[in-house]
Parts: sequence; structure tokens; C-alpha cells
Amino acid sequence: MAKLSDPVTILKGIGPARAKQFANLNIFTLGDLICHFPRGYEDRTRLIPIEKLEPDVPACFRAMVMNTPKTAHIRKGLDITRVQVADTSARLNLTFFNNRFVTDQLQYGKEYIFYGAVSGDFIGYNMTNPVFEAMDSHPVTTRRVLPIYPLTAGLTNAALLRAVRQALAVCDPPAEILPEPVRRKYGILGADRAYYAIHEPQSMAEAELAKKRLIFEEFFVFSAGLSLMRAARAGKKTEPFEDCNLTPFHSALPFTLTGAQQRAVNEILADFRRGAPMNRLVQGDVGSGKTMVAAAAAYIAAKNGRQAALMAPTEILAEQHYDSMERLFAPLGLRTALLTGSMTVKEKRLVRERIEAGEVDLAVGTHALLSDATTFSDLGLVITDEQHRFGVGQRAKLSEKGRDPHLLVMSATPIPRTLALLMYGDLEVSIIDELPPGRENVDTFLVGESYRPRINAFIRKQVAQGHQCFVVCPAVEENEELNIKAAETWAETLQKTVFPDLRIALIHGRMKGAEKEATMAAFARGEADVLVATTVIEVGVDVPNATLMVIEDADRFGLSQLHQLRGRVGRGKAKSYCILTSHNKNQETLMRLKALCKTNDGFKIAEEDLKLRGPGDFFGSRQSGLPAFRVANLSCDMQTLKDAQQASAEWIDTYGTSDMAEAAALRERIGELFARAEGTMN
Ligand code: ADP
Ligand code: MG
Repeated sequence: MAKLSDPVTILKGIGPARAKQFANLNIFTLGDLICHFPRGYEDRTRLIPIEKLEPDVPACFRAMVMNTPKTAHIRKGLDITRVQVADTSARLNLTFFNNRFVTDQLQYGKEYIFYGAVSGDFIGYNMTNPVFEAMDSHPVTTRRVLPIYPLTAGLTNAALLRAVRQALAVCDPPAEILPEPVRRKYGILGADRAYYAIHEPQSMAEAELAKKRLIFEEFFVFSAGLSLMRAARAGKKTEPFEDCNLTPFHSALPFTLTGAQQRAVNEILADFRRGAPMNRLVQGDVGSGKTMVAAAAAYIAAKNGRQAALMAPTEILAEQHYDSMERLFAPLGLRTALLTGSMTVKEKRLVRERIEAGEVDLAVGTHALLSDATTFSDLGLVITDEQHRFGVGQRAKLSEKGRDPHLLVMSATPIPRTLALLMYGDLEVSIIDELPPGRENVDTFLVGESYRPRINAFIRKQVAQGHQCFVVCPAVEENEELNIKAAETWAETLQKTVFPDLRIALIHGRMKGAEKEATMAAFARGEADVLVATTVIEVGVDVPNATLMVIEDADRFGLSQLHQLRGRVGRGKAKSYCILTSHNKNQETLMRLKALCKTNDGFKIAEEDLKLRGPGDFFGSRQSGLPAFRVANLSCDMQTLKDAQQASAEWIDTYGTSDMAEAAALRERIGELFARAEGTMN
């Protein structure tokens, strides 16, 4: 018996060349192969009479060969073989291109099983290149449910299926992790059947059951893992922070905190008092004012004589945070410092020396904060902004720079409530569900190319009123094929031919950090009228004078991402607008975009996204900060997700410390999942 960890090369027919093809699919071991699940199935179980075949709908039928196949050599590289077949209902002409074997294989007067689609015209039906098998053969391509695999160049579906079948014959599938009572309660197939049935189901119904089991299993492992992490942390102790007088902080703010902000601050205060490390997520829509909640937390840490670190995913954002914190904290006697990768070696060294000497109360920065060169004298609070951009591992790395410091993560990615618990199962959650007063909705419109003159006129009007505009493009360089507006080319077009009299600036992810900073800062100072950008501006930058955002080829972005982008306008007093353009004619796509025009509520948009795309895609998005799920990407229903979560909670209660085989297997799987997550997220 082989092991799941054995390389695929132990299988017959898999040499180094084949192995390379499998490696392209991230398949290295038998286990990888067995977990390379079909993306769909073709139901070839039912045989229908020829008469009932419908144009362009592939189906199976049983028919007798009515003549000897004849091959005509049309020209070099083109041979056409024709043969007629029939059942009791009708006759059908088959055509094969460049298939020399047909003549040998199809014998006059014998019956075969065929699978293919007819195409029809007024002369009669015809079928091109059907697959066929002899009646007494082992069903491979007909009379079965055929799994359809994600493939790579050179590797056919049949070759993949053969390899999977071999793997399942020589080694046992992954061990069962779900105790029998759990499987019974939730109607879940056992592992011993599911791993076979997902690849070679007897029926479509069985394929569905197998899929359900594997999705359930994946979510089960994930949420059990989070629960265990939470339990492990619950045992940890840390020095509590004492409450301090927040009046100076409040008076230094140019506004009063909203009720929701105050609530979040109170929840943080309660965590600080508890004597265990805080682990809290502050989730709030773009513009809801999360930064000031973080500032309050940093203030309390400083008043307790401890350092705080605030990590942002981009240099631009780190710099902006630094500016607002410095402005707020300097008059309060708190020392703030900035540390980013693009600073000179000397600048960085000086800042690090101050951090290590305890001369900095709040260090704001990018990944540079994580580097081994950064040592804190007494780190008591770690804050990460836009948490979805960071992996669990990065959070952990920053935490290790202190003695079990408190952890605060902030995210504007509105995760539907139904998924939030699953994603952030190891965190307490504060939700800021209220925007600062006076904010008006950003009016959003979806238009086609025919509106171009009106869009241009509108940009001109905003600029004439002294406002600024963002124009967001989906890519940096032009891509003819996809006809998407690349930022570079578009900026040039706008400057040269459309707005020669306006100041057009350009910013994109391929520019150097310092260059980006400078462009962004200049735009914020009002030194450009229109900023053509890629999604680098998605996160955080505050330009209150910007009142219009045009998003080109909006269908290329996810809904939540569009909402995030739109949050860059509507930050000042003036009425703001967002115009989405799209060439797309697909009704579903347009529906998705229209959902964005109807509401400004990030949570509602996320729910809509979820409804339209299903949780599979939601989790599949690389930005989610989640481990890459294998099966869950195959789309799944909400109920399976909820069941898996409930089951894992029950499991922890009942079997959490059990030494039964399933429990040990589960713990092993949790370890693997999180190890994989670290690998993909950093
Ligand atoms: P986000 O939640 O997207 O990080 P920010 O913290 O950047 O939001 O805040 C968005 C804007 O709202 C900032 O300009 C900030 O100064 C302002 N702001 C935050 N809280 C309030 C408040 N309570 N009243 C008025 N304005 C506020
Ligand atoms: Mg923010």
C-alpha cells in the first residue's frame, strides 16, 4: 500500500515529463492528486434514442454501424471519415476529422455506445467527432458520470482521471475526521466513500453528496482550527491596562466620536482590563472612522507606559496614518514615528533606535515594522489596518515583538454577517455601523460608452467647481485583446486629446514607493485635477476635495472592491458621484453593478455579492485573507457552511480533548490547513 505523501511518479505512466505537468496543477503527491477535485460533471449515464437527440446537447445513445466507415483524404492534414449508424428510432451520419482509428474500431453490423451532440440543418442531422465505446468495454467515456477536471497544457481529462483512479487503487484516501454521530446528524457521507465518489460517482446525486461532504469537511476543519486557536489564547495572561482619563484625547479631536465609535472604544477598554490579550476586529464601512478608534487604543496604551504599533498595507496609507496620528498626538505629548521600506537605511536606523530606546509611543509603518531589525522596548498593542491584506502569520509575527500584546485589527471589507464568524472565528468583533454625521451618499451611475461625452463634461464641471476627480482603470498597460482601459494610455489620451487644459496625474502599482507617495501627496494638496489610477488607491487615502470617481470597465472588479474604491470620494462636504462604465452586455454582470448603484451600505453589497456569486467565489477571492480552500471554491450552499460551523462548535465541546482516531486526524488536518494558509498569504 502506498502513502498519501508518496510522489505521483510511483504511479504507472507518470515519468518526469508527466510529473511536471502535474506540478503545474500543484499536484506533487498522491494526496494532492486525490484532492484534485473535478470542477464539474457530465451526466453520461442515460441512453436516449437517436430520434430524441437535441441539437447541441451532448448525450449518450446506443447504435449499430450501418456501413463500412469511408475515409476521404481532403488535403494534407485533413482526413474525413464518414459512417452511418442507426437505432430503432432513426439513422444518423457521423463525421470524424483526422481520426484514422475509427475505420479499425467501428465494425459494420456491430453496436456501440456513442456520446456527442448533433448539429442540424435542413439536409438532416449530423454528428461530429462523437466518442464511442464497445458494448462490452469497461465504461470510461460513456455510460457514466464523467468528472471534468481543471487541466493544464498537455494533460487531458482522461489522463488525469486515469491517474486519480490509480492513486485511489494503491493508497487509502485521507482519514475520517468526522465522528459517526456528526455524520449522521448532518447527513454527511463517510470519508471512505466520499473520496471515491467525488471522482467516480455512480450518479449525479452521489456526486452532489460527495461534494457536500468535502465542502463540509473543509469548513469544519477551518472553524475547528479557529476555535482551538481561540481556546489556546484564552489561557494566556497579560498585564491589564488601567483605564485612563480620555478627556484630553476627546478634546484634541476636531469632532465627537459617533455612537458606534464610542461603543468600539468601550469594548476595547473592557478587553484591556481583562488581563488576557485582546484579539479584536473592528469592522466598519469605508469612511466610518476606524482610524480614530485605533488612535484611542494607542492613546490608552501610551498612558499605561506601553508602546503601540500600527501597521498598514501600503506606504501611502502608512504615511497618511502617521500624519493624522502625529497631528493628534503631538499636542498631547505622545511621540509618533514612521517606519517604511522606502526610507533610507539611515532614516530607518534612526527610527529603529528610537523605538528600541522607548522614545516612541506609537510606531506607524508598513511591513518594515515586522523586520528582525525592529525591536520594541515594550510593545503592548499591535494594530493592523485593512486586515484582509495581511495573513494570520504576519499578525502573529508582529505580536511576537511584545509580551503577548493586545491585538486590534481593522477591516473595511464588509463581510456578510453569515460569513464573518467563519472568517474571523478567532476574533471578537466590534462593528461600526454608523457613519460620521453629515455624510451624504455617493450617487452612483452605470453607463455605457455612448455616455462618454457626458462623462467628460461632468469631469469638467466638477473641476470648474474647484473639485478633483479620480479615474480608475483596471490595468497599468494597454491590453488590446481585452479592450480594457489601461491607466497609462488612458491618462495620456485624457491629457492630450480630451482635457489639454486640465492637470492630469497618473498613479499605479508599478511606480516606485516614493514616486507614488509624491503623486498622491501632490493630488491631496490639489496640484492635479484628475488622478488616473489603478486600484492602488483602493485602500485608505483621504482626499476630501475629490468629488467624482469614474471607474472604467467596472465589470472587471468585484463588487466589494468597487464599493471600497467608491469610498475614496464622499469624504468632504460637497456632494459626490461615482460613474461606472462598462462594455459588458451580460445581464448578470450588469445586475451586479446595478446593485452598487442602489445602495451605499457595504454590508448589503457584500450580501448581494454573496447571493450572486455564492460563497465559493467569495472565499476564492485572493484578498479575503483566508487559506485557499480547495473544494469550497466549487461553490457551495450557505446551509452546508452553517452546518459545518455548528458541527465544529459541537465537536469542540464533545470531542475537543478526545483521543479517538478522528480527533487525532482532525488535529493533524488543522495543522496542515494553517500551514498552507501561512504559505499562501505571506
Ligand atoms: P475608515 O473607517 O475608512 O478608516 P477614517 O478613519 O479614515 O475611516 O475616517 C474617515 C474620515 O472621517 C476622516 O477624514 C476622519 O477624520 C473623519 N471622521 C472620523 N470620525 C469622525 C467623527 N466622529 N465625526 C466626523 N468625522 C469623523
Ligand atoms: Mg481606514
